[in-house]
Amino acid sequence: MGFCLFGTVAAAARHAQRARGMARVMIFDFDVHHGNGTNDIFRDDPSVLFVSTHEDGSFPGTGKMSDAGEGDGVGATINVPLPPGSGDAAALAAFDEIVAPAAARFAPDIVLVSAGYDAHWRDPLAGLSFRTGTYWRLSARVKALADELCGGRCVFLLEGGYDLTGLGEGVADSFRALLGDGSGEDPGAIAGLTDEPTEKVRRVLAEAKAMHQL
Ligand SMILES: [Zn+2]
Repeated sequence: MGFCLFGTVAAAARHAQRARGMARVMIFDFDVHHGNGTNDIFRDDPSVLFVSTHEDGSFPGTGKMSDAGEGDGVGATINVPLPPGSGDAAALAAFDEIVAPAAARFAPDIVLVSAGYDAHWRDPLAGLSFRTGTYWRLSARVKALADELCGGRCVFLLEGGYDLTGLGEGVADSFRALLGDGSGEDPGAIAGLTDEPTEKVRRVLAEAKAMHQL
């Protein structure tokens, strides 16, 4: 659905398993939209851990927290619907409190990232407020996690991003983090950001942690 012709991250996951002998694949999806195709493809598959943060209620409307896998795959799908307005603090808290511990428990052989940049505050399609530096911080965390858990194996696959400035800055900051360089964010460009819905975010994360025993 959406704007994707092919489920590239799902194809990459299966390729890693079948052609490269990596039994356990983790997919972290920080695109603003729920990764509904990936979710459905691996719904009953315990060998692929799918963790998606997305804007609650945004297109296509899937990705409720209660969607946590099926059959053998129960628990290997983790959906974290963030309230509209969630930004840098929410993204990092979701990573530190859910994505990282879920990854450590799963022990992946490789981490794939559905790297969409449409949660950027500049993006016209949705209502999250990630900053350019948020992508630096998320990417640095993914790299550290992959270094710790699976010999540094991680691959970022470009997904959404509909504001060319936000997209360009976000992608560049991901590269900077992976190369070990500092963020290129211009602090002056974030003056207009509003406060995050901290209380709502805290409740969502607490609920997700309880549901997934993290
Ligand atoms: Zn998207």
